[in-house]
Amino acid sequence: MSYLDCDLEELRQKIVSREVSAREIVARALDAAEKLNETLNAFLAIDRRGAEARAAELDQSLGKLPATGPLFGIPIAIKDNICVHGLQTSCGSRILGDYHPPYDATAIERLRAAGAVIIGKTNCDEFAMGSSNENSAYGPVRNPWDIERVPGGSSGGSAAAVAARIVPIALGSDTGGSVRQPAALCGIIGLKPTYGRISRYGLVAFGSSLDQIGIFGLRARDVAKVLSVIAGRDPHDATTADVAVPDYAAQLVPDAKGVRLGVPRALFGEGLDPEVRRAVEGAIEAYRDLGAEIVEVELPHAKYSIACYYIIATAEASSNLARYDGVRYGFRAEEADELIEMYRRTRDQGFGAEVKRRIMLGTFVLSSGYYEAYYRKAQQVRTLIREDFHRAFARCDAIITPTSPTPAFLLGEKTDDPLKMYLSDVYTCIVNLAGIPGISVPCGLSSSGLPIGMQLVSRHWDESTLLRLAHAYELAHPLTARPPVAANW
Ligand code: GLN
Repeated sequence: MSYLDCDLEELRQKIVSREVSAREIVARALDAAEKLNETLNAFLAIDRRGAEARAAELDQSLGKLPATGPLFGIPIAIKDNICVHGLQTSCGSRILGDYHPPYDATAIERLRAAGAVIIGKTNCDEFAMGSSNENSAYGPVRNPWDIERVPGGSSGGSAAAVAARIVPIALGSDTGGSVRQPAALCGIIGLKPTYGRISRYGLVAFGSSLDQIGIFGLRARDVAKVLSVIAGRDPHDATTADVAVPDYAAQLVPDAKGVRLGVPRALFGEGLDPEVRRAVEGAIEAYRDLGAEIVEVELPHAKYSIACYYIIATAEASSNLARYDGVRYGFRAEEADELIEMYRRTRDQGFGAEVKRRIMLGTFVLSSGYYEAYYRKAQQVRTLIREDFHRAFARCDAIITPTSPTPAFLLGEKTDDPLKMYLSDVYTCIVNLAGIPGISVPCGLSSSGLPIGMQLVSRHWDESTLLRLAHAYELAHPLTARPPVAANW
């Protein structure tokens, strides 16, 4: 039997009842991570010593503490742009190199307090900029379903680690789709919560008004459980809101009765792979069978979302990345004889091509003379997009779209054409612009056996509806196939 056939609660029960030790579970995850890394390159750091020590500590604490945490003994992987004390945080970049943050991100602190064991840091596109994981300075991640293909990005390492059954749960970050799109391409669940739901303290900033930590898992119930642990107000992040955090897992029901599901038909047209369209249309019918009422909705400004996103995200990135100057963190170029030259060389050698492209774009759209035409205009369009959703949610409780216009593409297929790569985010980045929550759920396989994902989005703070819909679908239509490259522990 595989322990990964258990959900997190069942696994935790086995550990606290001493049917299996936390050490054994964690050792299995570590073994799988090490073994599969040669093929997948999903991890940039594997913390065998730290994870084994923590697991032993948990085993020893059993029976001594009055209560055990909700994630007691569960092995977890963390994207390498989230600070974990004692481990590197490279953001997939040379410029941070082996930067070791002296503190834990709030989400990490909460995971640890719940008993989770961090086994390592996962590969990602440099500073989370990308849709294929090919922008990592440490080589691309490979998709466990077909190692010639990308896992999606930018949180490709976390998605591949869960899809390959190395860990049952991983954290990523989502600025324009970086959790949902790789979840879709790897056949797992990926949740991006409402902006302000999970603290960004300790998440390295890319586009601060868009960034959220997100959760990958094999089941909606597991994702729900982890969300209840890490969500909520944090005095270290003023954008977290004081909205109560429910026990999301306890709220799950196996149907969609009473839910009005909106379908924006106009988004099912040009550029959408016919197999993806068919799979998502099948899911709409499945929801009808589960009791949902299907309604048509319109998002008239959706067509501007890519343009709007790539102006706002690059503007914010150009400002956030100004701090990497060779003085405060990580890498410094050696050969310079004066300060400005040192900054220039450090940034030239430390950043990869995509990051430089974004810094230039962002600096351009913020420069005097262009600010009004681009940045300000994009902010106005962002408001129109939010209003589109507001109007749509007067008629429905959730909206369904594809997550990605195509299944996983080949490594190298889009690297020469940034615009084509940016179009991978057409369904996802609009959700970050509106600040609402979104989830990707597997909804079938293509004829060549690649996973397809659907995206569900809902009102601010209504993660419950998304998790409920994901749960109901997954019970009725489980994805039983497994990727050829996968551990089985
Ligand atoms: N692919 C998008 C980008 O490159 C989204 C990235 C993200 O969500 N971090 O900007």
